[in-house]
This record gives sequence, structure tokens and C-alpha cells, in this order.
Amino acid sequence: MLRLRGSRLVVGALALVASLAARTDVHTGGQPPDAARAAAPALRLLVVTGGHDYPTSFYTLFEGWPDWSWSHAVSSVEAFAKPIVSRFDVLVLYDFSQKLGEEGKGHLRAFAEAGKGIVVLHHALCDYQDWPWFEELVGGRYLASDQGDWKASTYRHDVELLVKPSGSHPIVDPVGPLQLVDETYKGMRISPKVTPLLEIDHPDGDRYVAWVSPYGPSRVVAVQLGHDEHAHRSVAYRELVRRAILWSAWR
Ligand SMILES: [Zn+2]
Repeated sequence: MLRLRGSRLVVGALALVASLAARTDVHTGGQPPDAARAAAPALRLLVVTGGHDYPTSFYTLFEGWPDWSWSHAVSSVEAFAKPIVSRFDVLVLYDFSQKLGEEGKGHLRAFAEAGKGIVVLHHALCDYQDWPWFEELVGGRYLASDQGDWKASTYRHDVELLVKPSGSHPIVDPVGPLQLVDETYKGMRISPKVTPLLEIDHPDGDRYVAWVSPYGPSRVVAVQLGHDEHAHRSVAYRELVRRAILWSAWR
């Protein structure tokens, strides 16, 4: 069952028009004017988990913010059982899913094609190994097994990391460098067309640990970091996820 957490505000048609009118470039571009942002209705997040353990500290990433409410689906099958385009503004994936029926895939795809926000966190980079469209959406993939010339990706827990912005971007500018103990992934297949956001220099991890996907219709942000409490309780990581969500929704 979908569980609604937090409150919802009535959608203000004028604010919506203002925020739509303020849209500029999909992947690098500007933000709506402050006035439009302040008047915008609260975002409706759909957070999807399932298929992989995680500590409940994960939930604290979403709690306590007045400018969004969040619903939690405990599996991708549940999340995409019905159309979600009109019910949610941002999809946050923290699931570890391989199977999804054609109808569910259609609902996820319709959400992406409607220009909604999508944030893909950590082990969700491993989702749907047999669905090429999902890799296109994300701009990369953790390979669970060898795929043609690509060797399976690898991971390592509890790595001490210095994470640096790859350049200036509204998501990382307020965050700055992060010091984090987290899991690394190595050997991911990352599209050369992504806009890198954050990077590390560590032998056990790929260089890029966060990026904006080149996927066209919507703003899709991928963040490899976020295995456990170390990340979830990090002020900088929390700010990173929040900025990714807001930016993906044109806020
Ligand atoms: Zn993990």
C-alpha cells in the first residue's frame, strides 16, 4: 500500500503556470524566479524501496520539510501499479528491482516522458538489468553480471571518501566537498553524455559518483552514494539529496 507521509497542499494553478513558464534548459539551466518558487505548491514525492535492505535512517532524508510531502511504496510493483503522472512530481528510487510488468513499465515511462523529476539513489543504479530504457533514463548502470564486453561492476563497503564537485551546478554549489564513509561502486557503465556532479579519486570506485542523465524529457539525477547511516546522517549528503530532488522538479 502507498502510505502518505506529511501533508499535501492544494495545487495553485497560477503558481504552476509560473513555474512552467520559468522552465529553461533541461540539464544545466536556470531555476524559476524566487517569487515563483516561494508560491509553488508543495512537491509530492514518491519514494520507492524494496528488494534490498537499508536502515530506517533513510527516511529522515524526507522528513520535516514543509515544501514537500512524501509517499512510500515498498516495491516497484506497488509503486507503478497505477498511473503516477498526475499524483506525484518527483520519483525517488532507492529500490533494487529486476521484474516489472509491461503495465508498470508503461507507468514509469509515462512519468519520465511527462517531464517529471526523477532521482536515482545508490542500489537503484542496479535496477532492471534487462531493460535498456532504464539505463537510458539513468545515464548509467551498475552491472550485476558481465554484459558483452562489459565486466560486472564491483562494490566495497565502508570506504573513506573525499567527494568533490565536478563543476558548478545548482545541485552541488550549496553542498561543496563531502567527507563520507560510504560504499563505492566500480566498473559502472556511465554514459559519456552525462553531466558529472560529484567525483572521487579512489582505487575502489568509479570517478563519478553523481551525475545528471542526458535523458531528454525530464530531469534525472543519479547519486551513487547513500548506502547507510553514515551517508543518511551526513549534513552534506542530506543537502545533496534535497537539492537533487528540488532541482529535478524545477525548484
Ligand atoms: Zn549499498
